[in-house]
This record gives sequence, structure tokens and C-alpha cells, in this order.
Amino acid sequence: MSGSGRAPASAIVTVGNELLYGETVDTNAAWLGRILAGWGLPVAKRYTVGDIAEDIRETVSLALKEVELVVVTGGLGPTRDDLTKGVVADLMGRSLVRNEDAWHALQAHFRAAGEDEVPELSRGQADVPEGARVLVNPRGTAPGIVLDAGEALLVLLPGVPDELEAIVEGGLLSAIDGRLGDRRRGHVVHHRVVHTTGIVETHLAERLEKRLEALPDDITDGIDLAYLPDVLGVDLRLSIRGGGPDEAERRFDVFVESITDLLGEWQYEASDGDLAEAVSAELRRSGRTVAVAESCTGGLVAKRLTDRAGASEILVGGVVAYADAVKIGEVGVKQADLQREGAVSETVARQLSERVAERLGADTGIGVTGVAGPGGGSLDKPVGTVWIATTVGGETEAVRHRFAGDRLAVREASAQAALAQLYRRLRDDGAKG
Ligand code: ATP
Ligand code: MG
Repeated sequence: MSGSGRAPASAIVTVGNELLYGETVDTNAAWLGRILAGWGLPVAKRYTVGDIAEDIRETVSLALKEVELVVVTGGLGPTRDDLTKGVVADLMGRSLVRNEDAWHALQAHFRAAGEDEVPELSRGQADVPEGARVLVNPRGTAPGIVLDAGEALLVLLPGVPDELEAIVEGGLLSAIDGRLGDRRRGHVVHHRVVHTTGIVETHLAERLEKRLEALPDDITDGIDLAYLPDVLGVDLRLSIRGGGPDEAERRFDVFVESITDLLGEWQYEASDGDLAEAVSAELRRSGRTVAVAESCTGGLVAKRLTDRAGASEILVGGVVAYADAVKIGEVGVKQADLQREGAVSETVARQLSERVAERLGADTGIGVTGVAGPGGGSLDKPVGTVWIATTVGGETEAVRHRFAGDRLAVREASAQAALAQLYRRLRDDGAKG
């Protein structure tokens, strides 16, 4: 289902020499692009210019002729290289006037920083082109500015990503909606993300594409499916353009329901996409704790679990069992087994998992041992070989993996696979009884 007519288009102009020289990555443009597309104001063009008045002027005036919403970021600060506001005021033939809301916010900002007065250099931050609407900046001094520029709306935002995001989330949409609201609403893009891990993109696609062809049109029509792979897994991103959010949710439910049997053991649910959230929830649900013994991941599994608030309820602790002596002395791997099988082996992974759970008094265990590279590989244990074991309900399961990529990728994939294995086992265990 799509909205009637074309979506009102937008353009982004990012300003700053550092963007052109590659010293700063233009994250503002990417972030704004996502937000604007989600609002039904898809970005048609992006421009980047240096801190040069003539270039800013030409580019903004060109963009204003092409689209209905132009968002400019950067160069709003108080220093001599910050030219945007003056250039725009000049371009539109308006003078800069003190804005009371911006002035009060500016005073409050400096008071909170322990200064009695707004410094001379910063006072101009409260001046905006005549007739502009101001969006207060809760994290800095340069406010957002919204201007009616005839054919188009023009929005100026500070370059600091944190400040820009706070202003946009704080009230940009309502500031532009009087003018663009009715037309953008029919083009709002709704999304749902389905997370998977442990299956590569091509295998996932093979399974899904066959099913999608067989599904009736009323389930698939108007739903775009994108595969978004990274080291940790593949996200499926569903999108629908137009219609209300309730209708979109209903259609996503039906769509996901009709493919969910194919996603099986690889699918997990986490609000922010982090598998550690899903694992933590399963541990909590089943009233269990976990302990980890990690060799090649060096604590990454424990880190992933402790990144989340409330980790103390589910994680007892961990041992970074890097040297053989620590695997033996601190975790309790049998020396003879380690010497016979090697540190990267099923036996050692199993013992790491079982013994660490036992020694630290946890209900479940994770053991990870592998060759992260770039050195240390051999013919039968090449770089990327990782044994992962988990102990749940007194039973230990071990899986041999072969991960591709550099040292960082192997380590990250290993930690993810360890979490995935525990997650799957806890879920299966819960389903059983
Ligand atoms: P301020 O009021 O703090 O001076 P400003 O609007 O003048 O803000 P700039 O001086 O252009 O913004 O940039 C401030 C900081 O934000 C710089 O560190 C810059 O690298 C960063 N920045 C600017 N533009 C972008 C962008 N498009 N993407 C990511 N970071 C950016
Ligand atoms: Mg600046």
C-alpha cells in the first residue's frame, strides 16, 4: 500500500571542512536520512560543503529550488569558521535579531556551567534570522532554526551530533508539520526488524525466497524485505510505505507468522538487537545464573552480559582462562586431557564450561576456546576454529565452529555464538518443561 502521489522530498546540506577532508565521518547526514525517510520526507539529495560562505550560499539556494525541505547542519557555532547562519540570513534578505527563548536558554546554559554571564563571543548564538522559529538546544548553545523560504522550508541545525539529535527529537517534526504534515503522512515508512544469528545470509535467503514466492499476495504485497548482515548475524528488515502504524503492525505480524517456522533456532528477540538481552531474559525467566570461562574471547562474553543493567542477577562471574596454567589451575581442566587433545578441543571446551559453573556456583556455564589468529593456526585447527560448550541442567553440549575474518571478527563471532548456544538451550529447556 503506498501513499497517493510522490512523497515531499528533502535535501541535506552538511557544512564543514573536516567532512570534506575525511577527518570527521558525516554521521549527521546518515542519521538525518533515516529520520526523514521514516517521517515520509525521503532525502533526494545530499550535499557537503566546506566552511566557505560562497559555497554554502550557492548550495543552499540550489537545494531550496529542488526540494521542499532543506536541512543544513554545522557551522552554527560562535567561532569565525561558523558561517551558516549569517550566509542564510543574507541569502534570504533578513537581518539577525535576538530571540528571547534562545537568549533565556543560553543564559541558563552558562549558569548551569557556573558562569554568571554569557561570554561575549557566545551572545550571537541567540540571534536568528527575522521571522525564524527557534528550537531550543538542550545540550549546547546553538539553537535549531526553522525558516519559511518561499517554496521550501529551511532548517538549520548545529553540527555536534548529540545536539542535533536532541533538537530533532525534541520538536523538529511539529515545527515543520504545519506545512508538510498532510502530505508526508501518506509516505511514512514503517519498519520491523527480525533478528537472526548463526545462519549466513545466502542460506537464510534460500529458505525465505522460496516461501515468499508461495505466499499469497495479500501477505507479501507492499512489504519490502531487506537482508542486513554483519559479523553477529543477519537482520531482516521489513518495511511498508504509507498507511497507519496499526495497519503496518498487523501486516508485519501476519508476514512474520508465515515465515517464522523457517527462522527456527536462529531467530531471537531483543528490543535493541543485542542477543545478550535475549539471553539475560531467558536466564531471568528460568531463574538461573551463568558463569563463563573464556580463552580466545578474553572476557567478551562476560562483557556483553555486563553491558546490560541488572547483570548481577544472572551473571555470577567469569575466568579469562588464556594460559594453559589458568585453564588447569583456576578452572580445573585436567592437565592430561589438555596435553593430549590440545587447548582448542572439544574436551577442553566441555571442561571449561562444566568446571567454571561448578567452581563459581552457577546454574549454567559457557566455555570458549579457539584460534583467533592471525597466527597460531594449524592444518587441523586453522585460524577461526573455535570450540564452544554450554552446560545447562547438568548436560554439556559442545559445538565446533569455523569463523571467517580477522582477529576481531573471530572473537566477536565467537562471543555471539556462545550466547546463541546458551540462548537456544535455555529456550528449548523452557519449552520442554
Ligand atoms: P558548535 O555550536 O558546537 O560550534 P557547529 O554547528 O558550529 O556547532 P561545527 O563547528 O560545524 O558545528 O561542528 C562541531 C562538531 O561536530 C565538530 O567536532 C564536527 O566534527 C562535528 N560535526 C560537524 N558536522 C558533522 C557531521 N555532519 N557529522 C558528524 N559530525 C559532525
Ligand atoms: Mg563550530
